[in-house]
Amino acid sequence: MTSQLALQQVSVHYGNFAAVRDVSLDLERGQIGCLLGPSGCGKTSLLRAIAGFEPVSSGQIALHGEVLSTSNSQVAPELRRVGMVFQDFALFPHLNIERNIGFGLSGLPREQRKQRVKQLLELVDLPGYAKAWPHELSGGQQQRVALARALAPEPEILLLDEPFSSLDSELREQLAGEVRDLLKRNNVTAILVTHDQHEAFAMADHITLLQDGQVAQADTPYNLYHRPNNEFVAEFIGQGSIVTARVDQAGRLDNQLGELDKDHHHWHAGDQLRLLLRPDDITHAPNSKKRLRVTGKAFRGAHYLYQLELADGQRVPCLTPSHVDVAIGEELPVHFDLRQIVIFDR
Ligand code: ATP
Repeated sequence: MTSQLALQQVSVHYGNFAAVRDVSLDLERGQIGCLLGPSGCGKTSLLRAIAGFEPVSSGQIALHGEVLSTSNSQVAPELRRVGMVFQDFALFPHLNIERNIGFGLSGLPREQRKQRVKQLLELVDLPGYAKAWPHELSGGQQQRVALARALAPEPEILLLDEPFSSLDSELREQLAGEVRDLLKRNNVTAILVTHDQHEAFAMADHITLLQDGQVAQADTPYNLYHRPNNEFVAEFIGQGSIVTARVDQAGRLDNQLGELDKDHHHWHAGDQLRLLLRPDDITHAPNSKKRLRVTGKAFRGAHYLYQLELADGQRVPCLTPSHVDVAIGEELPVHFDLRQIVIFDR
């Protein structure tokens, strides 16, 4: 089966500076991918290369089997069958919603265009808004109109450039989930660019995490969180602490954490290990003899996120239901679950 989008070792240069280096990526039809990473990691440059606004310095970009970019040829952006949605919605303020959505459909006869716009308004759950003006709509509604406009010419892929970042954080996650459902129902292939991992988790099937223009890890959201390849990935995704501990013959760690399982982990007696502890690896256990001093706490509504101190001074996170309310300086009885723990090479 041919991929809907195939990037083979794509690099993008600005002069001598490589903003994107050897990035490969495959999306099947109907899959939602995400380019995730900190500011400056090359997400936007790569998205612009897919859209055709930026040439590639090496590698190849193909869409639905058609080669769009190589180092010595490129198809013009307007011929790529790519739909774009931007952060600032970018609706035309002087056109009503119907004409905004119909903007890219000028080739269709009037009656057909009207039908298509009506269908798209239903798709984004805004029937009856055809005659409204952009300024009369909320941010979330405007973004759904922008989505309808991008989908109108039936692109082979939809590119979403930080589409929710101008919305407040609660609405952002909700809308990301809604847009995901909508794209999935219509079998639309899409790529989202964001620096917000919650947005990425809420929307994407597959995430390419970039660091300095290179792929740090390309994986499912679950694996990025639970099976990070390296410490950069572990620290960028989710909360957690990386602590150092020495392990003895029996698998016992020297800093109160407990024992490692011989069957599940690779280690040798005497090793100095780097361990990733997620807040969900440490649970409140009222009867536990293991008690750690609370050095910090943050109220999260349903949860408290505690910072706890090990005997050697290293700090670890712990998530509890928010009715478990222990003051800073006091001790919290805990249980460590080391079965899923990630061990990094030194
Ligand atoms: P952000 O989240 O801040 O938008 P990003 O991950 O999208 O960041 P890019 O915008 O792709 O990153 O930038 C990657 C690198 O390329 C950065 O170091 C940036 O300074 C550089 N860069 C981007 N555009 C240009 C340009 N037109 N000319 C020169 N350097 C550029």
